[in-house]
Amino acid sequence: MKQKLIVGNWKMNGSLAANAALLQAIKQGLPADNKAGVAVAAPAAYLAQVQAELAGSAIGVGAQDVSQHEQGAFTGEVSAAMLKEFGVRYVLVGHSERRQYHGESDAVVAAKAQAALSKGITPIVCVGETLAEREAGQTEAVVKRQLAAVIHQVGHCVSELVVAYEPVWAIGTGKTATPEQAQQVHAVLRAQLAAASAQADRVPLLYGGSMNAANAAQLLAQPDIDGGLIGGAALKAPDFLAIVAAAQ
Ligand code: PEP
Repeated sequence: MKQKLIVGNWKMNGSLAANAALLQAIKQGLPADNKAGVAVAAPAAYLAQVQAELAGSAIGVGAQDVSQHEQGAFTGEVSAAMLKEFGVRYVLVGHSERRQYHGESDAVVAAKAQAALSKGITPIVCVGETLAEREAGQTEAVVKRQLAAVIHQVGHCVSELVVAYEPVWAIGTGKTATPEQAQQVHAVLRAQLAAASAQADRVPLLYGGSMNAANAAQLLAQPDIDGGLIGGAALKAPDFLAIVAAAQ
């Protein structure tokens, strides 16, 4: 069976003390024979701390955003090369909060994915529809448009992506897509990747949106759900560890 991947998205939460306690608890609580890939996407300010805390562990360091630019006069931005210096293995691109609050277009998201790949960092490309789009029957068209922009940009590197389906209406709301709803969209994304790459099967397809200890096992049992992107439940070690346990 394909290895599952569980990524915690801390969003703009944490402190030096809270991060240290959370990472200690996660490291200690991982099963000795853990079979899942595990990573945490921390705020940029804490990457040095997270890198140090996770040194020697199998837990990957992730970031939540990356600049599309290589370097220069882009105040406040963090480049892929900078992330690389802090051992970053994964970076979220196109999270709905970035699309919504920072106006990131499909083209910008695609450029960010390319910037990450160019430095050997795996982009976790987030796609998902709003409630209005779902109710208008546009789910498939929206996620395909969002993913198409990235596929077009990265060319032969498609198989190096991670893709996360995150219905916007399920993020931080406590409303989870049913396993069937999620699987339906994942199958669409898998087919789209397969049309672009003979190695599409390698691309982990994560589900994100109020995944928690109670619903993780059912979601992860779906044939095209290869893992989870976890927001709220990633901030509490027992909840995050329970999701990791469901991913064995
Ligand atoms: C997220 O922010 O990527 C997310 C899935 O959040 P939550 O799990 O809190 O819905």
